[in-house]
Amino acid sequence: MSTAADLADLLRGAEHAVVLTGAGVSTESGIPDFRSPGGTWERYDPLEVASLATFLRDPALFWRFHRPRIDMLSRAEPNGAHRAVAELERRGLVAALITQNIDRLHRRAGSPAPIEVHGSIDRGECLRCEARVSLDELIARADAAEDGVPRCACGFQMKSGVVLFGEQLPPEAIDAAYDHAERADVMLVIGSSLAVAPVSQLPALVLRRGGRLAILNIGDTPYDDEAHVRLRGQAGAELAATLESLGVA
Ligand code: NAD
Repeated sequence: MSTAADLADLLRGAEHAVVLTGAGVSTESGIPDFRSPGGTWERYDPLEVASLATFLRDPALFWRFHRPRIDMLSRAEPNGAHRAVAELERRGLVAALITQNIDRLHRRAGSPAPIEVHGSIDRGECLRCEARVSLDELIARADAAEDGVPRCACGFQMKSGVVLFGEQLPPEAIDAAYDHAERADVMLVIGSSLAVAPVSQLPALVLRRGGRLAILNIGDTPYDDEAHVRLRGQAGAELAATLESLGVA
């Protein structure tokens, strides 16, 4: 069983450490993850409510699911785990942050340029004319509409910047994620079940090139046997202990 001191040692010796986060880094902010017991997928079928097909076919149904979710995500505050990752970046101990999360909490905790491979709620967009608006503007338009569906000036329904099932992942973000994984001598995974491709392939890339893997996740992942450091505690507490070991707390 590894300790936070082991993680600190690994990061101290790294030349290009990359952090990869998932929904578990935000549960301590009150945002449920997908696959823990009681998580979002036990109550909704994501292929139904979070799909491009539903957005196109029945925007009112789509927005009935998304609006409370966007409101919940907007109210959440960054937690100690987000702040610890930002601190590791500030200290030069972590070179890049890749996240599957859409909640903006890494940015709000001070991470300068998280690579958001599944998009973010920080904007609204039109799939027809490619117009972009801020999140505040998107919500204002939803509030103004009788059916709760925000509309673009071109008349088409708008969506948030979150990538839907059936949509392509943003190519710049995916390219940047692969680029960092290829250069990483250490990858630290925090709060991800590593079940969603293509992000789930990134640790394999690091291992194949002789890099080391650290996993901080309560639940199991497919890479547990290959991890050099494996921590199973709460992200906030484990990262606080890691910063302390590094002498930067
Ligand atoms: P996941 O739900 O598949 O896995 C989360 C993992 O985090 C679980 O294995 C769980 O054991 C672990 N975990 C939960 N709380 C933790 C804590 N406090 N400390 C340490 N580990 C903890 O999430 P995923 O791998 O990110 O994949 C799910 C998809 O859901 C992603 O595509 C993501 O975009 C999306 N999602 C995002 C948010 C968000 O933005 N906050 C929330 C839910 C889902």
